[in-house]
Order: sequence, then C-alpha cells, then structure tokens
Amino acid sequence: MRVSPIQEVLASLTMRFIKAITFVDLPIRKKFKIFSGGVLFWFAVLFLIAAGTLLSINSKSALIVGTLLPQGHVVQTIDTELRALRGELNELSGPSEATGVTRSFELAKRHIAAVNGSLGALDLGGLGEESVGEQARALVSAMAALTQRFNSLAERTDTGAVGNLDELRTAVSEAIAASDRLSDSITKLSIATNARIGTLVRYALGLAVAVLVLAAGLQLLFTKWIANSIADPVGSIIDQIHTLGTGDVDLSNKILITSKDDIGVLSTEFNHLMESIHKMTMFKRVIEEDDSLEDVYSRLGKVFQEVGIHEYMIYDVPTGGSKMKAVYPQLLPEQGIACDAAILDNCNLCKAKKTAHTISSTAYPDRCKMFARGHEREHVCLPMLVGGNAGGVVQFMFEKPGDDRDAVDIIHKKVLEASQYVKESQSVIEAKRLMGTLRDSALNDSLTGLRNRRFLQEYAENLVAGALRRGKCTALIMCDIDYFKQVNDTHGHTTGDAILKETANIIGKSIRTADLLIRFGGEEFLAVLLDVKEGESIAVAEKIRQNVEKAKFKLPEGILQKTISLGVSEFPTDTKMFWQAIKFADVALYKAKESGRNRSIRFTPEMWTGGEHF
Ligand code: GH3
Ligand code: MG
Ligand code: MG
Repeated sequence: MRVSPIQEVLASLTMRFIKAITFVDLPIRKKFKIFSGGVLFWFAVLFLIAAGTLLSINSKSALIVGTLLPQGHVVQTIDTELRALRGELNELSGPSEATGVTRSFELAKRHIAAVNGSLGALDLGGLGEESVGEQARALVSAMAALTQRFNSLAERTDTGAVGNLDELRTAVSEAIAASDRLSDSITKLSIATNARIGTLVRYALGLAVAVLVLAAGLQLLFTKWIANSIADPVGSIIDQIHTLGTGDVDLSNKILITSKDDIGVLSTEFNHLMESIHKMTMFKRVIEEDDSLEDVYSRLGKVFQEVGIHEYMIYDVPTGGSKMKAVYPQLLPEQGIACDAAILDNCNLCKAKKTAHTISSTAYPDRCKMFARGHEREHVCLPMLVGGNAGGVVQFMFEKPGDDRDAVDIIHKKVLEASQYVKESQSVIEAKRLMGTLRDSALNDSLTGLRNRRFLQEYAENLVAGALRRGKCTALIMCDIDYFKQVNDTHGHTTGDAILKETANIIGKSIRTADLLIRFGGEEFLAVLLDVKEGESIAVAEKIRQNVEKAKFKLPEGILQKTISLGVSEFPTDTKMFWQAIKFADVALYKAKESGRNRSIRFTPEMWTGGEHF
C-alpha cells in the first residue's frame, strides 16, 4: 500500500504529539516528577471541589441558620402582635366603658410599639433575595402607615375616634397581609436554599467521581507507558546478556530504541557494546583461522584504518633475541621507521618493549627518546604481550593536537578501540608464534640452520606453482663434499660438524638470498635457484665449487682444504616433474663423482637410464 506524503506528515505529527504527551523522550527522573506532579494536580482538583462545596454549603446554611430562621421568628412575633392589635381594635369597635376603651387603646398602643420594636430587628439588607427584601420593606411601610393612622386617631380619641377605627383596622389587615407575605417568602427562600444545598452536594459528588475516574484512567495509562518504556528495553538487555553467556552475540536481536530518555541512551549504548563485542568475537575467530602471522598483522592494520588510525607500525620481537623488526606495513615509508633505527638491533631501547607498558606522548611528552618524529607527531606505543613479555609493539602516530582537548580525546578514543583489537589478537599471535617455532624446528636443520628435506617436501607444491605461474626456470644444484668421511675419520666428528657448517655458509653466500639452500642429507646440500635463465645455473654451480675449493678451514692441526662435486638440472626444462628434476641433479652429481670429483656437471638426457619412472 502506497503512503501519500500528507499521510506521512500526519503520521509523524501524530507520533510527535503522542511522544510529547507521554513524555517519552524526557529523562526518567523528569518523567517521575511529572508523574507525581500529575498525582498532586488531581489531589488539588479534588480538594478544590471539596473545599468549594463545603464553603458554599457553609454560606448557604449560614443564610438559613443566621438570617432566615431568626427573621422568620421576628416576622412570627410581628404577626402575633398584629393579630393581638386586631383583637384590641375589635374590642374598641363594640360599646364599651370609657375605662375599657382607654385600656384597649393602651394595649393597642403597646402592640404597635412591640411591632415597631420588632421591625427594628428585621434585617432589610441581609435577607438578600429581592422578593424577601421587598416584602420586608412593604411590611415596614404598612406599619409606618398603620402607626401614623393610630397616632392621629389617638390625638382625637374624644372626638369621633371610632369613626376612624375602620381605616385603622384596614391598615392592620394590610400590615397582617404584608407580614404573611414576608413570612411566606422567608419560608420559600429557606426551602429553596435547602434545595440548592442538596443540588450542590449532588453536583460535587458527581464531579469528584468524574475527576477520580479521569485521574485513575490517566494514572493507569501513564504507569503502563512508563513501566513499558523501562521494562521492555531492560528485558531485552537481560535477554542479550543471557545470550552473551552462551558466547554468541545475536545482532538481529538489537534493542529497539523508542525514546531518547535514559533508557533510550542505555539501549543505544548497549547496542554499541554488543556490536563491538560481536566485531571483536568475529575478528578473533577470523584471525584464529588465518594461516600466518603476516595475515594477522595485515588484519590488525585494516582494523586500525577502520578505527581511524592511518599511521601505525607493528614491530615483532622474536623470542630470545635482542632484535626487533618492523613487520607491518610491509612497505616502510621512505624515511624509514619513526624511531631511531637503533631499536631494531637492541629492542630494549624501545620503552614499550622494555617496560611492557603503554608509552604515550599525549600523557607524557618526550617520554621515549627513541621516537624520532616527536616534533611533528604524537605517538602511542602498545606492547603486545606474549607469554608475559612484550613480543611485539604496535605504534600509533597522530598529528599533534596542540591545545585542542577534543582532538586529544579523539586520539584516546581511537587508541582505546584499537587496543581492544590488539588485546584480542595477543593470544592468537602467541599461539601462532608457538606453532611457527614448532614448525620451524621440524623444518630446519639444527646444525647448519638451513631448511631440511621435510621443508622441501612441504613447500615443493608452492614452489612449483610459483615457478609455473611466473613462467620462469628453477635450477637445482645438488652438492656433495668430496671424501668427507676422511674428515671425520682423521679429525673427529666435531671438526666434521664445523666444516659442514662452514661449507653450508660458503654455499649460501655463493647464491642469492632469494634462493633456497637445503641440507638434503649428511654432507649433501641442494641449492634451489629461483627464476634463473636457462643454462646459466651451471655457472652458479661452478662458483660454488670454486668458493669451496678456495676455502681454508682452520683446524688446531693446521689448515684443511676440501673440494665439492655438483650436479645441475633445470625445472621445467629437463623435466616437468619437480622431484624428477632433483633426481636428475643427483644423477649429474654421480657423474661428477665418477669423472674425478671437484667438478660441476650439467644433467643431459643421455645420463638418465631409468626410463619414464624414477
Ligand atoms: P664421496 O666423495 O664419495 O662423497 O665420499 P664421502 O666420504 O664424502 O662419502 P660417503 O657417503 O662415503 O661418506 C659421507 C660421510 O659424511 C659419512 C658420514 O660420517 C659423514 N657425515 C654425514 N653426516 C654428518 C654429520 O652431520 N656430521 C659429521 N661430522 N659427519 C657426517
Ligand atoms: Mg654423500
Ligand atoms: Mg661426499
């Protein structure tokens, strides 16, 4: 299904919004702060609802208890007095004695005074509700009218007072009606206020329940988010650590990074760690399967390049010797190694080799006096520990960072990463060296230090393949000292050994360094000359012969001179079978012995009488 750009933008915006409201990218500490802030917020909302409700109930009940009830009581009193006043007025309207009239009048006066007294207790403003206030004011004005009527009547009691009684009675009735209305409206207001309290409590309860449900829902959701954002990656990390225990790193099980918070950082770092462990494990596996130390060195070189170190040199310190050798890169820079060349002859001049500690000019400038490029380069030299000693040194060089701390940090980071690989390779290098030494001892002749016949058997295939590939000719010169038995017989075996060694030396010096000299048998040597021109090998044989003939072996008894006979064949000129070519050289040697010794003879086909097979 194709997703349109708008859908993509919408999806990314939604994702961002969700991330923002779920605080995914905030640090854990902040997440928990916001979480507890959220809890406090909802508590505060609940508190405000409760406080608001209580305060409102309080003010409403204060209105009922503090105003409406007392005012209702006052109106009750006024009503009673007014009704009593109406009774007295009824008394006055009937035929009565003068004393009775006066008494009733006095009583009526008292009732009016009592009503007016009570009116003072009416709280006209406090009644709040307009209609109640209006009724109260109406009662006050009705009473004012009534009082005025009564007073004017009292002034004229002797002159037809009774005639005005009706008006007074009407005023009383109006006052009673006003007081009834006031009483009614106070009662209604009380009932309404009470009802409002009930409604308020119901609303407050509903709101509190809604807030609780919303808060609980949100808290549950956030708890799940936060818990998942921590638990899922931590679970994956634990799984990965378990797989690490089995020695395998499964990179397909990388931890999914869903946030930029501490857990996101932890997951990223953990993924990096797994990657470097994986790289390291793979590296070790690969170099273990490498055939030679050179392959291991070249792989280390590649890793250094990958890490970002482009100037480096690997030195090899052969066991038991005092020399060291720059082994990788194989091509030395024009100016040679970066150290004083004296270290190559005396490896203990190299501080990293001697101390078996890392020597860094970034930590201590001029730490090693042997580093010759100190004016333009920093160097960090790591010893490669083999059997507890420095069996080699890896030297890293960097441009001088000056005062740039960041550049120094970068150097340290690169060295740290590269040194992990060096450490991983140490055991492999040690094992390969040991194997090499064992192999060498099996393939070398201990007396002369030359390669032996077994070596030739192992490497013949390579040798032949190389020669055929290059299309070049290989000469085989079989050498045999003449009458060597006599040396042993006359001067003893030790002298015989010394002469054997010396003769090996003379032959070795008579051929090129790239050629191969093999101790083929007791006093027989085979020189394998690589890439010779056809026919020129006999000259080399002759040179050997002459050099041996000229040699004067110093013995306690005096000078001894020996001669040597040589047979020469060429491969693939004489035969396409390498071992047959060796045999042909031997046949030619036999001819040389036969024809008087101290001579070199080139093989010719008529010398061979053995047929196709040998
Ligand atoms: P020819 O001229 O015919 O080669 O005579 P030769 O005496 O050299 O030949 P022969 O094969 O009869 O004797 C070879 C001798 O070399 C016999 C052996 O004692 C001696 N030889 C072989 N290997 C060694 C060795 O490692 N050390 C010593 N000292 N002598 C050895
Ligand atoms: Mg011999
Ligand atoms: Mg001999």
